[in-house]
Amino acid sequence: MEKKSMDWENIGFSYIETDKRYVANYKDGKWDDGALIDDANITMNECAGVLQYAQTIFEGMKAYTTEDGRIVTFRPDLNAARMADSAKRLEMPVFPEERFVEAVVETVKANEAYVPPYGSGATLYIRPYMFGINPVIGVKPADEYQFRVFTTPVGPYFKGGAKPITICVSDFDRAAPHGTGHIKAGLNYAMSLHAIMTAHANGFDENMYLDSATRTKVEETGGANFIFVTKDNKIVTPHSDTILPSITRRSIMYVAEHYLGLEVEERDVYFDEVKDFAECGLCGTAAVISPVGKVVDHGKEICFPSGMEKMGPTTQKLYETLTGIQMGQIDAPEGWIKEIK
Ligand SMILES: *Cc1c(COP(=O)(O)O)cnc(C)c1O
Repeated sequence: MEKKSMDWENIGFSYIETDKRYVANYKDGKWDDGALIDDANITMNECAGVLQYAQTIFEGMKAYTTEDGRIVTFRPDLNAARMADSAKRLEMPVFPEERFVEAVVETVKANEAYVPPYGSGATLYIRPYMFGINPVIGVKPADEYQFRVFTTPVGPYFKGGAKPITICVSDFDRAAPHGTGHIKAGLNYAMSLHAIMTAHANGFDENMYLDSATRTKVEETGGANFIFVTKDNKIVTPHSDTILPSITRRSIMYVAEHYLGLEVEERDVYFDEVKDFAECGLCGTAAVISPVGKVVDHGKEICFPSGMEKMGPTTQKLYETLTGIQMGQIDAPEGWIKEIK
């Protein structure tokens, strides 16, 4: 199988159509067999549930080429389980978890020519998603759904090294108590767009959202969880029912404890204690970890001792260990790597 010839290092993060996508339809209370198809476009009724009432959920993951030339994905069973949780919260049918993993494997295999080579820093981004497709005008869940998986190659997140970013404490809320902050729903992103555009207009890279009930505790950014490193080298991550449970963050906490022998804590993190941390990072599939150099709270700056030039030393170790596991250079815990080819 011949790889596409692309300038892998410079493809960036925008949609590039690949050859095949997986589609399964839910109708009359059951999922059909599903298939790989060629057409990247979707035709639906003007009154489709997704268009009127935003009944849509998604996942995000990556396929990598390892040093020894295998194609792998990272913990797809956790994406399957999280999508099942998202579906239940939005009154959608669950796409069976084993079938989710199979669909991901099939879609990546069918687009093997687009999986970037080892060492390029690029990866194949995988987007499973599901939405209500039949007409819905009275407010209620749709009766028919489509589950899809497409892939698109994406360039290295950091070109020329990971530079720490500056974030601001947002005046907007991301998630309400007992709301939908813990599921991966399109609606959480629609309402975050104004907040991120506002942050960018003010010269910041990202928002730090606080808990909307008390505005005293750190939650997350629009699309990544926080980890902090204390001055005595403990790894701390906020605990909250309104945070999206990042698979990257959960993996980093495991790696910190079991590979690096560090103490880890998942607990309430008050904004007041942020100034006392040594390092800060954002975790998610896209970047794995983005270092944060500075947090600005309405003009008051918190500058982490790790500075604005490079990742802090502990963040760097976590980053290297986790990406080493993903790329096959470091032995992975049982079940973390799903081999595709
Ligand atoms: C997807 C997402 C993350 C990151 O989760 P990963 O599983 O690590 O990719 C974090 N926060 C939000 C709000 C998200 O939607």
